[in-house]
Parts: sequence; structure tokens; C-alpha cells
Amino acid sequence: FGDKFKKPKDSWECLVCCVLNKAEDSKCVACMSEKPGGSVPVPCNNTTPVSMPSGGFLGLDKFKKPEGSWDCEVCLVQNKAEDTKCVACESAKPGTKSEFI
Ligand SMILES: [Zn+2]
Ligand SMILES: [Zn+2]
Repeated sequence: FGDKFKKPKDSWECLVCCVLNKAEDSKCVACMSEKPGGSVPVPCNNTTPVSMPSGGFLGLDKFKKPEGSWDCEVCLVQNKAEDTKCVACESAKPGTKSEFI
């Protein structure tokens, strides 16, 4: 009742001449057209591999500082590692012992 045409299972209809072909036919028996969707491989364009490196951003610091640099606690100026005093306010480098000066 529902089917317009009662087709055999896996049969296919030729797009060119509308002839109903059997499933085992790879070409239309009437016009020899290729079976639609049968021989044409669907190109899979998913060439981008979904690779999720876990923790790939771990090496990225919030602030990229020179090695050993330190921030002055008084004036927040960034000083170099070799500086024992703040270059701006001359405060002692935090963490340095007083005997170091
Ligand atoms: Zn045909
Ligand atoms: Zn300072």
C-alpha cells in the first residue's frame, strides 16, 4: 500500500533511463550507465588528524621573563638576574640575604 513501486530488495533504478536493475547488476541493463553510488567512491576529505596533545601549553608561561630576572617588591620594576638591587629604587633584591650586600 505504501510503496509506489514494489522493488526487489537492493534493486536500483537507473538515473538515465529509469530502468529498474537488479542488485547484482553494476551497470544499467538497458543503457549501460554506471550504478549510482555503486562504483563511485565517496572521497573522504578528513585528512586533518584529530590529534590532541595533552598539556601542549604547559611550557607557556603567563609572562615570559628572562632567566633569573626578578621583580622589585617596592616599585615592581623588573630587574635582571645580575642586579642585586632594583635599578629604579635601589631596593635590595628580594630573597637575597642581607649579608650578601
Ligand atoms: Zn539505464
Ligand atoms: Zn624598585
